[in-house]
Amino acid sequence: MTSTIKADLILVHAPAIYDFRNRDDFVLGWYSSQESSNVTPIFEMHPLGFLSIKSFLAERGLDVKIVNVASLMLKHPTLDVEKLFAHLDAPIFGIDLHWLPHCQGSIEVAGVLKKVHPDSFVTFGGIISTYYAREMMQYPQIDGVIRGYDTLEPLADLVGQVKRGVRGRFNVENLVYKDKGEVIDNGHSYTPEVLNDVAIDWSKMFPKTSSLLNMPNLMVLPNTGCQQSCGWCSGSRWAYQRMMNVDKKTVFHRRSEQLAREITTFPKTESPLSVYTLQAYSESAPRILDYLKAVQDSGVVKSVSFEQFRLTKPSVLEKMREVAPDLDIFINLSPQSHDVEISRLSGRGTYTNEEMESWMADAMDIGIKGVYLWYTIGMQKQTYKSVMDTVDYTARLMEKFPDDKIVPTIFGMVPFLDPGCQWFEESDQHGYTVFHRDLETHRKALTSPRWRDAMNYETNWMKRDEFLPATYDAMQAMANHKADFGRITPRSIKIVNQRIDHLRYLTSEVDRAYDTIGHLPDSLRREIGRHNDEILSYAADVALVKKPLSGRWYDDHTVPADIIAACSRESQAA
Ligand code: SF4
Repeated sequence: MTSTIKADLILVHAPAIYDFRNRDDFVLGWYSSQESSNVTPIFEMHPLGFLSIKSFLAERGLDVKIVNVASLMLKHPTLDVEKLFAHLDAPIFGIDLHWLPHCQGSIEVAGVLKKVHPDSFVTFGGIISTYYAREMMQYPQIDGVIRGYDTLEPLADLVGQVKRGVRGRFNVENLVYKDKGEVIDNGHSYTPEVLNDVAIDWSKMFPKTSSLLNMPNLMVLPNTGCQQSCGWCSGSRWAYQRMMNVDKKTVFHRRSEQLAREITTFPKTESPLSVYTLQAYSESAPRILDYLKAVQDSGVVKSVSFEQFRLTKPSVLEKMREVAPDLDIFINLSPQSHDVEISRLSGRGTYTNEEMESWMADAMDIGIKGVYLWYTIGMQKQTYKSVMDTVDYTARLMEKFPDDKIVPTIFGMVPFLDPGCQWFEESDQHGYTVFHRDLETHRKALTSPRWRDAMNYETNWMKRDEFLPATYDAMQAMANHKADFGRITPRSIKIVNQRIDHLRYLTSEVDRAYDTIGHLPDSLRREIGRHNDEILSYAADVALVKKPLSGRWYDDHTVPADIIAACSRESQAA
């Protein structure tokens, strides 16, 4: 008999688009924000919060399992998701809708879950769920939403009550839910001072790795919220004050003891670990140094990356090297544009290019291993020309820093400007036009055959029709500069050029088909299908390396092989 996955709560991560397999009516490569045109990370990576929930509820005696449906669908292309759900057994299921590009997939997957488990409670959480909490009650497959930047206590309460058989009138803070068809809003009163007061247990998260291509990456989130108010960010101070029921305090840190505890659970793997430290710009220097020392002392990590808002003082960089002499330290900066006025309008612009270049030279001398620079298309006052000027600037930068320690990347803010951010909420005042406002419109937009219809915004400086050409031109030109300066291999740049050229061609063919005959001809559908298969076969992150579609930490190891076999066509045929 096939086994069953039983738990008090099963967390399900849906792909961005369900069912993305065998779709030939829209082009998946449009949704990539990388020059590789790769999209798999937006499908398979679930929020870190899943892992915090698992650890926190375990401390309350509640058993939580994670089923990463997106990852399983990639690894097992014939997996029948409905059959898979029949092997799950829980009184309550939790689905993440944290990032808007997941709205189509998460709502559809909730529908499949509800069909298979009509008596189980289906609840949602995440930033976008918080923003659309009441609107989400319109979907029959969604029973509840827990609002907030930290839902650990309310979720533990909800799971405990459901486990005891409660099915209505829940005593759970931040919960919006339906009780016999009536929408009940418990408000948004749970706003803890300390974020996620638990340590993730990483010790069982990794498979044994055998290849450097499979080098595991893990992430640490030391805080949430932000002191800054970048107008395009729904995690900003401005957005938190309107969405998260908070006032002056808009950054919520985890306790240092929990971070230290978490680091002690990093496992020893065959390949060295790489740690990405999210939101490090909201950390004080002493906390960063304590954290780095703990990572160094773990003895299992090779490299650590930090996001920084300002240019970190050289004296702090020196101390970072001192406390972590064995670690490769990488810094991520996001100036957004080479044009300081555009950079400033985007919420950045705290340094000039000259200051940044001088700082990078100092950082290299101190022993910082590398600096990643991130530029974004979709900012205020940014035109096509300005975007291409940014690309030219980065070419000069790579020439000036000839080793491969300075790596620029540019991507388009597509397809969505996040609801909740200032430019979305006050679009007219900031030069933005917003086309989709509610959740249902966004859900439908994600599978639009024409990419311009998927986009929810344009700016006074760039219309919807200009975004994709600008993104392709900028990503391709920058990738070729990277190849010229040795940041990309000749083989990779060949693939990048082929893919972007092909995407341009597909985009114009789709537009032409709709303009002339009003639908996609079969021959074009076949071509789109082949393109989508190719895109999905790459599990690269930013670098274009073909990795096996398995064996990474966000793959799920809780689903036994016999269940996969029972739900996959190829095994049944064998
Ligand atoms: S984009 Fe700006 S506002 Fe948003 S988290 Fe980063 S620094 Fe803060």
